[in-house]
Order: sequence, then C-alpha cells, then structure tokens
Amino acid sequence: MIESKPRLASAKEVAAELRRRSAFVMVSHVKPDGDTLGAGLALGLALKRLGKRVCYFQQDGVPRNLRFLPDADLVSRELPPDLPADTLYVFCDMSDRSRAGEYLPAVDRENVLDIDHHLGNALFGKLNFVLESECSTGSAVMFLLRELGVPIDDRIATCILVTVMTDTGGFMHSNTTPEALELAAELMRRGADKEEITEEIFLRKRVVATKLLGRIIDAMRFEHGGRYCYSYVDDAMLAQTGADGEDIEDVVNTLLGQDGVDVAALFKAIEGEIRVSLRSSGKLNVQAAARRLGGGGHFRASGLTCRGSLSEAFSAVEAALVAEGL
Ligand code: 5GP
Ligand code: MN
Repeated sequence: MIESKPRLASAKEVAAELRRRSAFVMVSHVKPDGDTLGAGLALGLALKRLGKRVCYFQQDGVPRNLRFLPDADLVSRELPPDLPADTLYVFCDMSDRSRAGEYLPAVDRENVLDIDHHLGNALFGKLNFVLESECSTGSAVMFLLRELGVPIDDRIATCILVTVMTDTGGFMHSNTTPEALELAAELMRRGADKEEITEEIFLRKRVVATKLLGRIIDAMRFEHGGRYCYSYVDDAMLAQTGADGEDIEDVVNTLLGQDGVDVAALFKAIEGEIRVSLRSSGKLNVQAAARRLGGGGHFRASGLTCRGSLSEAFSAVEAALVAEGL
C-alpha cells in the first residue's frame, strides 16, 4: 500500500476534529518556552469553555517566569490513567514529535494534532496545522479559536500574547509583522495583561542570573573576522553562581547583539548533555545549520543537542555554520 503524503489541514478541518473529540492532552516541548506553553494553555482554556476535558503534559515543568500563566499549575508530567481511547494529543510548537521528550507515552498518529510554525515541520500528526509565516504557534492557534467561535477572554488573550511577545523577542525580531502587532493590540483590548508579561518575562532577572551572564560574557570568543560569537555555560558555572538552566533563556541574544556579529552560539553543557542555541542576524540560515546536526528551528533561531566533549561540539557547530556560508 502506498502511504499518502501528509498534507496541511485547514482551520475548518481542525476545528471539526476538535469538536468531535471529548478529551485532550496539550503537549509542549522539552525545556518549554512561552510559545509552546502559551499556545497549549490558550487552546486548552478554550476547549474547556466548550465543555471538553483537558490535561497539559510537560516533561520538564513550567519555568519560573511562566508560572503566572493561567492553568500553569495544572501542567504536569503525569497523565491521568482514565483518559478515553479517542483522546487527542495536541503537540504545540514542535517540528517533530521527539521534541515532546521521552516521558510522553506512545500515541497513535490517528490521535495526534500538530500545530506549529517552524520551518521543515515533519507533519507527524493525523492533522497538521502548520503556518510557517506566523510569528508564533499561539498566533496559529488564534485561527482555530476564531473558527471554533470561542469567546477570547482575558486569560486566553494573556496566553496568546505571551506567545507573540516571547517569539518576537518583545516585538524586536524580524517576525514582528504588522499582523503580529495588530494581533497584540486586539489581545490587549480583550484584557491580556501586557504589563505583567513584560515584568515577569522580560524585565525581572534574578541576581544570580545576572552574575552568570557576566561569566558567560567573560568566556565569549569571536571567530571569522568577528562575525561569529560563541560562549558556553557548564555545571561548574551554575554551581559557582547559584543560577540554573532557566536563567540563560535569552543570553544567546546578548551574544548576537555584539557589534559586527552575524551568528551567535551558546553551548549549554548541563547535566550530561550539550544543548546549543543558535541565532542569526538574517544573513545565514541557522535552521539549516542545526538540521545538519539533528536539530531544527527557524531561519534566525534554532537549536540542537551535541554528543561528546565541549570542544567537539564547538568544532561540529562551527563546521555546520561554515557549510551554511559562515
Ligand atoms: P532555543 O535556542 O531557544 O532553545 O531554540 C530556538 C528555536 O529552535 C526554537 O524555535 C526551538 O523550538 C527550536 N529548537 C531548539 N532545539 C531544537 C531541536 O533540538 N530540534 C528542533 N527540531 N528544533 C529545536
Ligand atoms: Mn514558537
């Protein structure tokens, strides 16, 4: 039998599927960010308003700066044992399903909905609602909320605005389109708490995080005529400063922001694995570079996991960047 090639689903088709099902698990990716959590929480809140049963699965837990989100206290690594057989698992903001982590029980493709905005999404769901031109997965979810006709209250609006603000870097990245700003305005009118989002996610830092940032900045190296900047953080630096992995979320953007830098990498050698964040000013495709090493993401922001030593990781990533034109 010839497998039919997965295609993209329309908002109408997805809304019909959502109406048909009675129970949902909203799945967010490992080391969650505002988009993966905000998108799932917004859709979960809306489905509950339609009388559906909703759970939120997350392997690593909700980071401190996102705990103010409505329903964040319901996000868990455990799933209830009595979910019905036709439960729909809604994967938000992941280009492939392995990004959900290894703790999620096996799920039939028939019961998977994939909602995303990454380049090169693997189309791993029964239905794949993938809008590459959207600034966030949450803004893709907005199309579904409109199709479902659910009223967008202040809680849902806050969740969606978090997705827009985090994935546009507080309206600074190039995905800050007029449509993204119009959506943000609409969400504020519906009661989204922009002040709280700005404070919790963008302004407030732990003192230990700022100390760690100092260490990472001290370790910066510049290569390729100053166009490539990279640095690292390891368990020892965390122990010495008292910071943790959540405190380095946006540090790679500081590296990219240095004069003359076109590409930045932050290597995070924490608890036995090396996670790498890549950022580009727009000249070089870091999604393609990450994909060479088994990762993925967007043209200007991507990530991957390296094996081996830190110096091997430095070499592998530099080679992948060179292959993409560095
Ligand atoms: P970050 O550097 O903030 O962890 O990730 C930047 C972007 O790349 C995000 O959109 C994230 O979802 C994506 N990304 C990060 N790591 C991976 C990975 O290992 N695989 C894939 N496919 N995407 C990743
Ligand atoms: Mn996203």
